[in-house]
Amino acid sequence: MTRLLTTQDVAHLVQRVGLPDLLRRLVGYLEADYLRWAEFDKTPRVAAHSPDGVIELMPIADASLYSFKYVNGHPKNHRFGLPTVMAFGVLADVDTGAPALLSELTLTTAMRTAATSVMVAKRLARPDSRVMALIGNGAQSEFQALAFHHLLGIRELRLFDIDPAATHKLVRHLEGTPGLTLTVCGSTAEAVQGADIITTVTADKANATILTPDMIRPGQHINGVGGDCPGKTELHPGVLQAARVIVEYEPQSRIEGDVQQMPADFPVTEFWRVLAGQAAGRESAQQITVFDSVGFALEDFSALRLLSDLSQQLGLGAPLDLIPRMADPKNLFGELQLSGQRQAA
Ligand code: NAD
Repeated sequence: MTRLLTTQDVAHLVQRVGLPDLLRRLVGYLEADYLRWAEFDKTPRVAAHSPDGVIELMPIADASLYSFKYVNGHPKNHRFGLPTVMAFGVLADVDTGAPALLSELTLTTAMRTAATSVMVAKRLARPDSRVMALIGNGAQSEFQALAFHHLLGIRELRLFDIDPAATHKLVRHLEGTPGLTLTVCGSTAEAVQGADIITTVTADKANATILTPDMIRPGQHINGVGGDCPGKTELHPGVLQAARVIVEYEPQSRIEGDVQQMPADFPVTEFWRVLAGQAAGRESAQQITVFDSVGFALEDFSALRLLSDLSQQLGLGAPLDLIPRMADPKNLFGELQLSGQRQAA
């Protein structure tokens, strides 16, 4: 039967495993799957655009498992008491098509995005990176902050958001984290000063220029998370021109990433090639590197695999009566009669 993992189940799972350990395991699953790049049937996600947002379907499969995620991006959603990003997804068996797992993926998207950022930064940021600017202090920000602190050794965070309440919330959650210093800044330009890594994770359906070339210094790594949709970017084209740019899946990133602003022949490198040793990551201590993150279906596939494994080990989740279980699989009509009889009893 299909297993259901609710938001409560996933939150419980994170408490049982601990967020740093869960992020560490996620990086392991992500690396294992990115190293099998050629085995996946890949496609850019299917997007339905509207004036204030987008709803996307993200499918991917290998020879034994298929997954998809439903995800939206509506930066004005807080006006309606809803998050900007909401998601759920399915992991299914390729041989039969049977859905094995239906899970919440809103919390999980934040964790898999942070784990992906760290996996890439491990190969692109300077190994001595200790200071990170975090621009955009909304729903994703704690996950990015803690992933970089626990898994990459970031010791100081320099924070900025146009909404001071968002920064206040982030500080409230992070203060008291051993070995982590927080500096609240008055602008992006102030926040990026002295930063080894700059994470931009803002939400605005616009060609924003959160980072301009004058703000960037040699040797910095930019983890650009919020530019992930046509007409929704964060980096000035001059920042990309000055950098070595790494993407997840080029056909999707050319449509959705910050590189949508660049000519079709602007050079980008897919991350799996760096991981597999087929392409360089950072080439010198002075080089500026950019991870133009948009979020690729493979990352949700890895996250769903981990959720499936951990929920079984920990006995979390519940069976979900999603697909009829019939003594005679051809007798679907009989299900209606049985259901009527059950209701009458
Ligand atoms: P959120 O709405 O909770 O937070 C976004 C924050 O950005 C808000 O606090 C807002 O005030 C701030 N902001 C907007 N414009 C800004 C500016 N010019 N300067 C500084 N701060 C600014 O959204 P979220 O869930 O944290 O998501 C953030 C972004 O990350 C979204 O654009 C989302 O689409 C994207 N995202 C990308 C991935 C990926 O895999 N690349 C995954 C998840 C989310």
